[in-house]
Amino acid sequence: AKNLGGSRTSFFREEFNHQLQAALQLEAEMRQALERNEFVLHYQPLVDARSGALLGCEALIRWQHPIRGLLSPFHFIPAAEQCGLISELGAWTIRSACQQIARWKEAGLQVGTVAVNVSALEFRHHRLLDTLTTAIAASGVRPGELEIELTESVLMTDIQTTQLIIERLHALGLPLSVDDFGTGYSSLSYLKHLRPAKLKIDRSFVKDLPGEEGDQVLVRAIVQLAHSLGIKVVAEGVETEAQQAFLRDIGCEILQGYLISRPQDAKGFEAFARRVSNT
Ligand code: C2E
Ligand code: CA
Ligand code: CA
Ligand code: CA
Repeated sequence: AKNLGGSRTSFFREEFNHQLQAALQLEAEMRQALERNEFVLHYQPLVDARSGALLGCEALIRWQHPIRGLLSPFHFIPAAEQCGLISELGAWTIRSACQQIARWKEAGLQVGTVAVNVSALEFRHHRLLDTLTTAIAASGVRPGELEIELTESVLMTDIQTTQLIIERLHALGLPLSVDDFGTGYSSLSYLKHLRPAKLKIDRSFVKDLPGEEGDQVLVRAIVQLAHSLGIKVVAEGVETEAQQAFLRDIGCEILQGYLISRPQDAKGFEAFARRVSNT
């Protein structure tokens, strides 16, 4: 920005206006993108650590932007949370995932459980349960076919309301996965109350395995803790065979990461699902 007046305040005001403009433009573009159907879901497999069998997948949103190309969620999810568009975007994600589940079932393709990410504000929004109920009914999704991923920090805030919402999700037949586990400085007591089906160990603890002794100790402890509560463990971000071997050996039962497959569009993921079910 130009600073003709030479005053710092006018510089900051200009800078602020500039950022506000950019945010408003992004919001307008996202609204348009929803209308024009520019968002897409990619799917990344979750596999059994021992057999390699397909257990499910995680739906990850992308924006097929007409000019900027395929955008990662980091470029628009935080903005959607800030401007309040997240519950609409989240509703789109839930509907799309349910429709995809229905299409795969119709095609006779077994893909296991499809997980969708629900962000903090979306989780607290009164529309969430309606959105889920309607999408499940419209697509005929059955219990266990759809799962919700929530980060630890979401689960740690306002534990009483959280517990109520989780109970309603359970009543709808929706299991819960704790995402990015280990990054939330949590007291862990919430695990006892919320009964998640899975813990997903954050990639930051996986990336330096098996070399990093501190991470070895941590990941072992997480697996033991989870198992003692009857919770399954997913390792995120598995990129090497050494990581895979270590995780399998310490009893982590589910793996997700580039080593197995990158997230791919529905067609690409279907090809993966056919390949593994034939072997
Ligand atoms: P996340 O839920 O922790 O998702 C895992 C991220 O790790 C994904 O990034 C995935 O592509 C990436 N990943 C998977 N395996 C590997 C690996 O082996 N190595 C590395 N380096 N990365 C790996 P992505 O798709 O860019 O998504 C980023 C985040 O955006 C997600 O993190 C999630 O928090 C959020 N997100 C994605 N889709 C949605 C959505 O539909 N709704 C909401 N609210 N958030 C979403
Ligand atoms: Ca996730
Ligand atoms: Ca994660
Ligand atoms: Ca993450």
